[in-house]
Amino acid sequence: MAQLSDDCFAFGGPMMSVDEAVGLITTRVNAIVDLETVALVDADGRVLARDLAAPLPLPPFTNSAVDGYAVRNADLPASAEQAFPLDGRIQAGGLAQASIKPGHTARIFTGAPMPPDAETVFMQEDVRVDASGRIVLPPGLKPGANVRPAGEDIPQGQVALRAGQRLRPQHVALAAAFGLTRLDVVRRIRVAVFSTGDELASPGEPRAASQLFDSNRFMLMAMLRRLGCEVSDLGILRDERASLARGLKQVAGDHDLILTTGGVSTGEEDHVKAAVESIGSLVLWRMAIKPGRPVAMGIIDGTPLIGLPGNPVASFVTFVHVVRPTALALSGALPEPLLAIPLRAAFTYRKKAGRREYVRASLRRAQGGGLEAIKFPREGAGLLSSLVETDGLVELGEDITNVEPGQDVGFLPYASLI
Ligand code: AMP
Ligand code: MG
Repeated sequence: MAQLSDDCFAFGGPMMSVDEAVGLITTRVNAIVDLETVALVDADGRVLARDLAAPLPLPPFTNSAVDGYAVRNADLPASAEQAFPLDGRIQAGGLAQASIKPGHTARIFTGAPMPPDAETVFMQEDVRVDASGRIVLPPGLKPGANVRPAGEDIPQGQVALRAGQRLRPQHVALAAAFGLTRLDVVRRIRVAVFSTGDELASPGEPRAASQLFDSNRFMLMAMLRRLGCEVSDLGILRDERASLARGLKQVAGDHDLILTTGGVSTGEEDHVKAAVESIGSLVLWRMAIKPGRPVAMGIIDGTPLIGLPGNPVASFVTFVHVVRPTALALSGALPEPLLAIPLRAAFTYRKKAGRREYVRASLRRAQGGGLEAIKFPREGAGLLSSLVETDGLVELGEDITNVEPGQDVGFLPYASLI
């Protein structure tokens, strides 16, 4: 399990910026070190454990990029078209012919190995065949055209994938192109997930009149799975210090991260803080972010705990800025900073300076052809419809105090967040 010191989340200032939070997490959280080997077909989404140097060049041999005719550079027609007798035919997967006679051309197909003494290929669309069956090649083709030299994509020995790379389908393709069948990856981190609150009922269980069904736990578990975590669903803890403490303490030993939602603001019925303090250490991060409230950061027996606010939208947004970088750091993944895409606002908005705000917005095609963001009409942090009916978050930086229609803003699509 990840062993972190009790004071690793300590923070001196009264308000923490989003950047400070991410910086603190990435410097203080240590990656787990356990590795495992997985088959290539199971590697998508996993974190590569070691640098991968190319065991062979890509492409492995020099080959034709088109269907056409190969010639020696010395024979390239300079100023007028020229007829070449045929010398050979090379198919993809066939053997390269040892040489090509001077003043001749060889029929060649896409992916077929180049004869060692031919360097250029004419596309078949650019040639014609004369009455005696010779291939007439036009002048002016650049030497080396339409040829893919061995190693032009990746030279042998070059580090092609870095340790910490979260593998996506294109990385799996690269490993396959090297002929690998298995990859060393970091084992999945194990995350314990609890909801807290007497007002919550689990879907599938009876719901009292004053209860609502727990939605955050299912959202958070789905987000964690998308980050490659192994998730333990630990249900709902009641708003009671001792049972909270017991529940949290029990899972610290065999999880790498504990995630809770609800009960971290400062009301009398918010017991997560006291519960964690009774069995470990805890700090409340007052983050300069909206929506969001204090986020609890704690350590129980060396295992980090993150307590997210209960309002679904606050929970979602703080997950993105606190849980996501923590899960990536624990998993040994390279940091994946969130880069907002610039587009036009189609709304008016006022905000306070000094904090970052995330506005739920949908995209639509603007009249000029670009994209513009339309703000969801209501703002409550409890509105699940606001997450469901929008495409992502407009990110308004600390310095911004108002937004006018037509202004450039940054947009984070939901798909880029997890
Ligand atoms: P809390 O952070 O515990 O004060 O909760 C803030 C609001 O979020 C309250 O209205 C809760 O009912 C709601 N809430 C808390 N936990 C959840 C949850 N797991 N699913 C849905 N709503 C929740
Ligand atoms: Mg609560």
